[in-house]
Amino acid sequence: MANNPHQQAVTQLENVAKLLEPQYTDGARFKKAIQKLKQPNYLHETALEVQMDDGTKRAFTAYRAQHDNARGPYKGGIRFHPGVTKEEVLALSTWMTWKCAIAGIPYGGAKGGIVIDPKALSLAELERLSRAYAIWLTEFIGPWQDVPAPDVNTNGQIMTWMVDAWAQSFAEKHPLSLNPQATFTGKPIEYGGSEGREEATGLGGVYVLEKLAEKLGWQRKKDITIAIQGIGNVGYWFAHHADLLGYRVVAISDSRGGVYVESGLNPAKTLACKQETGSLDECRCTTDGCSIKNGRALTNDELLALPVDVLVPAALESVITQENAQTIQAKYIIEMANGPITPEADKILEKNKVLVIPDVLANAGGVTTSYFEWVQNLQGVHWKKELVLAQLQPIMEQAFDEMWLKHTQMNVSARMAAYVTAVKLVVDTLLLRGVV
Ligand code: NAD
Repeated sequence: MANNPHQQAVTQLENVAKLLEPQYTDGARFKKAIQKLKQPNYLHETALEVQMDDGTKRAFTAYRAQHDNARGPYKGGIRFHPGVTKEEVLALSTWMTWKCAIAGIPYGGAKGGIVIDPKALSLAELERLSRAYAIWLTEFIGPWQDVPAPDVNTNGQIMTWMVDAWAQSFAEKHPLSLNPQATFTGKPIEYGGSEGREEATGLGGVYVLEKLAEKLGWQRKKDITIAIQGIGNVGYWFAHHADLLGYRVVAISDSRGGVYVESGLNPAKTLACKQETGSLDECRCTTDGCSIKNGRALTNDELLALPVDVLVPAALESVITQENAQTIQAKYIIEMANGPITPEADKILEKNKVLVIPDVLANAGGVTTSYFEWVQNLQGVHWKKELVLAQLQPIMEQAFDEMWLKHTQMNVSARMAAYVTAVKLVVDTLLLRGVV
């Protein structure tokens, strides 16, 4: 099952349905809704033909899965990776439906991908591939239809090429009545992107941490130790905001390993040094004012097993597996990466009473700020960062509160509680609208 992510998403949905079913008087319609949500509304698949720099043509397998749009336009990233598969795209589109529902933003779920290692392409080839993908989707995406975004190996530049290509292609057949920038999010600030998007995912995770602290009655933040795997976009901003609020970030890592500082490290200095020297290990030192004073080197496996209060995987998927789940000593895990814990490891952690705040809730600050970008594009306005982040906080807090209520009332894991909240919202919308 673990090898087929879509089957995993379907099994999860079936488990959630078992818990929800008693709440519905019309069991037959409820079952129809669940059945519908097991498959996407649409799976678009093609071989994109792209001209290479040497004049030859090459075909690239491309997908766009549109899972459900009961609550609003489809929303989800586009991934460029050699490991992209149909099953992965289907699963990720399903999880996007739940993530948007948990955050309470008016979107459904989608995901796209191209089977390619973008490092193997020249910049010109990457641009032609990106434009070809957007043109292929001309009739399937749009501000009120499906709003893609960056994901693994895609970025603001790629979104800009895609907006440009999509707008030209769409305008050849239809009058353009909306700002075409609202068809994609994750754009550079210069081209309709949102202030605050860069730090939104990490900060959203810290809002979740704050709610957890409130529910658990933590008094002194300095006593709460945190280890973070990954000092990329998400990991760094989580570390930065947690440190600003007074939590003790004791460990952080990159792909080569990490550092541990018992008294807590300074995230800004740590990142600056890593950027300068290229390695966290080079930043360890003993003098006052140095970047990582009295730091101890750690492997990523050692970081995951640290006896900290909160562990934050913020790098890759499937880093906590049945092989290492028993070594986890943290009592709380905030999943900032997508899918860092395998289903088998999840069971072990639950048995060991580790509370896991799931990715669909913890990292929803990213898609929520993408939603703000879309709102700004639709309205033709540009909000200040303070306004963007001030609107993010209540959304993350409410999402947490709803999850927590189900977690405590139904006595289910936080992950199950988040899914129950999301699936119920989507099912209720399908029933209200008479879709099933
Ligand atoms: P990033 O590329 O900026 O950072 C990734 C970090 O992981 C880097 O510090 C890298 O050194 C580290 N890393 C790479 N290989 C590693 C390994 N083998 N062991 C330990 N660390 C390793 O990526 P990001 O945008 O920070 O995304 C991190 C995770 O968060 C991903 O799972 C992503 O899907 C998820 N996510 C990101 C966002 C967002 O807004 N960026 C939103 C939702 C979810």
